[in-house]
Amino acid sequence: MGRMPKWRCVASIPEVTYFKPVGIPYRTLEEIRLFVEETEAIRLKDLEGLEQEECAKRMNISRPTFHRVLVAARGKLADALLNGKAIRIEGGNFEMARRQFYCINGHQWDVFFKDMIAKPPELCPTCDTPNIMPVQPPGFGWVRGGYGRHSGRGKTR
Ligand SMILES: [Zn+2]
Repeated sequence: MGRMPKWRCVASIPEVTYFKPVGIPYRTLEEIRLFVEETEAIRLKDLEGLEQEECAKRMNISRPTFHRVLVAARGKLADALLNGKAIRIEGGNFEMARRQFYCINGHQWDVFFKDMIAKPPELCPTCDTPNIMPVQPPGFGWVRGGYGRHSGRGKTR
């Protein structure tokens, strides 16, 4: 195993995670995979109109890294838009800015990005049970081991 991937802090995950062009037969339809941190880069820079410096800070990455993520995201969107490809939003190297956890006894609490990447919670802070789970964003089946972290490197189609 290599070194730990660097998690990008993501504050918001899109509710709609699949886009398909009209009139393209399924057998010829190509699909672009957009990582969640790439949608966050687009959201911060192009939707909220923040400076790159501020975007990078919010995602807890360097400015050059933010720039690379943004350029990759825009390139994928352009490819999908101009070449009639579907877009699937999933995976990537990211962790949520704020993640809600719950325990088997019904307690709920928030875990923030910096605590999450330093050491994910193991016990409920109220009753000390180890039977805890993160609350998943609605309609987003992104758990695969651990607390839903994905390593999507090299799997772009
Ligand atoms: Zn509890």
